[in-house]
Order: sequence, then structure tokens, then C-alpha cells
Amino acid sequence: MRIGIDLGGTKIEGLVLDTDGTERARLRVATPQGVYEETVQAIVDLVAALERQVGARCSVGIGHPGAISPATGLIKNANSTRLNGQPLRADLEQRLGREVRMQNDANCLAVSEASDGAAAGSGIVFGVILGTGVGGGVVIDGKPLTGAQAIAGEWGHNPLPHPRDDERPGLRCYCGRTGCIETWLSGPRLQAEFERRTGRTLRATDIAEAALAGDAQAAEQMELYCDRLARALSVVINIVDPHAIVLGGGLSRMAPLYSRVPEFWKKYVFSEPDLIVTKLLPPRFGDSSGVRGAAWLWPAK
Ligand SMILES: [Zn+2]
Repeated sequence: MRIGIDLGGTKIEGLVLDTDGTERARLRVATPQGVYEETVQAIVDLVAALERQVGARCSVGIGHPGAISPATGLIKNANSTRLNGQPLRADLEQRLGREVRMQNDANCLAVSEASDGAAAGSGIVFGVILGTGVGGGVVIDGKPLTGAQAIAGEWGHNPLPHPRDDERPGLRCYCGRTGCIETWLSGPRLQAEFERRTGRTLRATDIAEAALAGDAQAAEQMELYCDRLARALSVVINIVDPHAIVLGGGLSRMAPLYSRVPEFWKKYVFSEPDLIVTKLLPPRFGDSSGVRGAAWLWPAK
């Protein structure tokens, strides 16, 4: 059986999948907010507790923020910055006495949805996390594409493509660059822009709900958001040409995305006059996709 762990900023979730993908156990603990060693201990304890529940030694896969540098083996790019520069995989392998597979959380979403989720059977899958941050991951034939820097699919810190005059230069991003896709498509940014334009305070998912209910200001904001997401995804389609794009994160619940974005991306994808068959899909497993994908980093056996 396979343990998947989703290491988040506020919680660490773990589950056990059996060979056919059925969930056998699930536990959740708060992420320690103190020193790094407490996070290592919390994961080791969670693995032990899950193995007690199912009565078997399991493989362990972990989804985490950021990436593991192929050059140094250390965590980088994590928004939970206390992880950055730490040898998390080596520490866990030593403490757990086995090989541990680890992947970025967007890669785990893509693995989950490509394995037995919304994109099952699709050869090339791009998984997108739209939430407080914006990230992505590429999966080919069920396996995550890691790459030379372990940043394959990290398109949230590319600039927004085809910027309009009023979108230049864009906002300063925490990564030090300006006008990153994340600064246009994150939930906080959608909420802030709507507030600036209308004076109304609504959460991102509520703006989508209001648009569906006929609110003209919300509909206008959603059209703008969908056009920007289409521009951002058109570049991914031009480069990796995925069969399916699966959205995850809190903003993946915004229903208008799935009908409007594929309309907008017709203007931007280089595929004239051919049809664009790439599907844009909501996640089958919702918030559980990351933790399931971590378990799927090991084959069923
Ligand atoms: Zn950035």
C-alpha cells in the first residue's frame, strides 16, 4: 500500500491508498510553525500512525511546496520559507529507513488527476494550482516531468503574455520580478482588482457566483480573468501541447472558467485553422488531489 503526504503551510495531510486507488486511511495534523526539525518529526509520526491503522509497511510519496534542487538535494522556491535550504528528503529517508519520492504540490495534483482522476487516459497533462499562489506541473504518461532545475511547469512566475497597455508593467511580485502570471491570477489579486474597480469586497469564488447570477460588474471581472488565464495557458499549450489541463486550488471551483477560457484561448494558441482539442477540466478529487497524487508517485502493487 502507498502513503501520500501533502505538506502544506497550515496542515499536513496523509492518506493510504491500496492497489486500486481506494482510500484506506486518512489523518491530518497542523503544520508545526516552529523549527524545521518539528516538521520532519510530524511527517515521521504521521507515517507511523497511518501504518498502524492499516497494519502494513507502505511506500511514501510527499507533495510539498517548491522543489528539490537536483544539484544540491535541498528544498528551494517554497513559500513556506523555513523549508528552503533544508535536506528534507535525506532527513526523511534516514528517519523512515526507505526511499521517499517527493514532488512539488502542483505536480502531485497533475499526477493524481492523470492517474485515476479527471484526466485519466490523457498522455500529456498540465496541472494548475489557482489559489493564494499560482503554480503548475507537467505529467507525461502518468509520470511528473521534473527537469534540469526541477522547475518544469512553474509558469506562475513567467510574465503575463500579450499584455495590454494598461497591464504594463504590472505589479511587483514577491519573487523580485514584475507582472508575473501569479500577480494577475491569484485569488487575492482577483479580489483586490474587483474591489478597486467596483468598491465592493467579494471573495474570488463569490465574484464567480455573482457573475453566474447576472451581476454585470462581476461578469465583467470574470471575463477579464478568463481572458488572462487563457493568455497564460496558451503559452503552455504552444510549448507542451497537453491533451488535458486540470485546474486545482480554491479558484478551480469557479464554474465560468471551464466554458469561457477555451473560448478565449482560440485567439492565442498557434493552431490555425485546426481545432484545439486540449480539454480544460475541474479536478475529480478536489482538495484531495494533492495528497492522492503524492501516493501515486509510487506504482500500485
Ligand atoms: Zn513572480
